Amino acid sequence: MNPALAILTAYVAKRWTLAKLRTVQDVKARQDKLLARLLDHAGANIPFYKPHAGKHFAYWPIMDKALALAHFSELNDRGVTAEQAWQVAEKSLSESNHSGRLGDLTIGTSSGTSGNRGLFVISEAERYEWLGSILARTLPDFPFIRHRVAVMMATGNALYETTEQSRRLAFGFYDLRHGIATHREAMEAFAPDVLVAPPKALRALAEQNFRIKPVHIFAGGEVLDPLDAVPVTGRYGVAPRSIYQATEGFLGMTCRCGMIHLNEDDMLIEREPVEGHPDRFVPIITDLRRRTQAMIRYRLNDILLPSPYRCACGSPLQAIERIEGRCDDIIEVSEGVTLMPDAIRAVILDAERRLEDFRFEQIGDRRFRLRLSYDAPEESEEKVTGALRALFERHGGTGFTIQTARGIHEPIAGKLRRIRRITPGAPTPQTAAT
Ligand SMILES: [Zn+2]
Repeated sequence: MNPALAILTAYVAKRWTLAKLRTVQDVKARQDKLLARLLDHAGANIPFYKPHAGKHFAYWPIMDKALALAHFSELNDRGVTAEQAWQVAEKSLSESNHSGRLGDLTIGTSSGTSGNRGLFVISEAERYEWLGSILARTLPDFPFIRHRVAVMMATGNALYETTEQSRRLAFGFYDLRHGIATHREAMEAFAPDVLVAPPKALRALAEQNFRIKPVHIFAGGEVLDPLDAVPVTGRYGVAPRSIYQATEGFLGMTCRCGMIHLNEDDMLIEREPVEGHPDRFVPIITDLRRRTQAMIRYRLNDILLPSPYRCACGSPLQAIERIEGRCDDIIEVSEGVTLMPDAIRAVILDAERRLEDFRFEQIGDRRFRLRLSYDAPEESEEKVTGALRALFERHGGTGFTIQTARGIHEPIAGKLRRIRRITPGAPTPQTAAT
């Protein structure tokens, strides 16, 4: 099929599906149907899952990034080996391409926050379907309006890349590894109406005053922090919306009411409990549509806070109040007492509303470091550490130290983690019983 037609077909199908799903029961029925088909396919065609064919889903193994990488060769239905895939991926990276080809397959890598790369393989048909689906969720007027989409990212994500620059859609790619300023001329000339970039890059574009007029702004790659959203909205008059996406798939999207909804029409999302935080969960995702590379019961490293209410937009897809950050960035105040990154963020920003940026790190047992930028007001350290102390003590923390430092230096291409735990052996949530 011609790529433009394939994308348009996928787009229309996705709009249709989203319109048809009215209730949670509709979503569940769709998931059950798709899951049965997926398990049939995987049990018959994906070597890793052949021993599990016919078993109840609850007995299929839980996957994570390390396991998926170790078994890459057995997790796709085309017999692509890890060696082949790495060869293609490394060659394309050395040529600064976003992705490489192996026949009709696209091979790509993703950067991990802790440095370990993920490897993915996707067929041509899946790529067009993915693109159609992302357009259907983000740009409902796409078939009627010509969009010019500027995508900034640090490492290539072949999913976005399509050689087809149709009349309806033009893509411009800007490699963050070359910084922001180098892209000014090209991006201003491209004049995008849609902008997709990590929050930190969006903020840099706004602060460096790029003369563009985006109508839609999407933040992807990391959690969108209000600290970064505010200057973007201020400069361009458009609030950035979050795309919740990982190598593992397109997981969610902010609706018009500002809530992230999980893409449960394509994904089955199981909930692993987080010890000590019963209202949160770690998602274990099953991509119900992908076939070439299986994404079955894949445990992500994120913590989500689901909304107990149905969103005002009317969508039956689960709304997420917040993506709280990564499991290994849970801060341990004292033994067994943990705080979510988001709780720390809120306290810091409440204590000093003039802060434009900060870093808070756990650097050891009961040892923490607060880092502010050079231009933060002088008394900020005192205010913020005072508030953090009070928070920690309220949760039973004793004998801890909070150092302070000035200066935040990070490459724009790096992953942004304002709150992180540097010490090894971060607490991990309980493993769900299977
Ligand atoms: Zn909504």
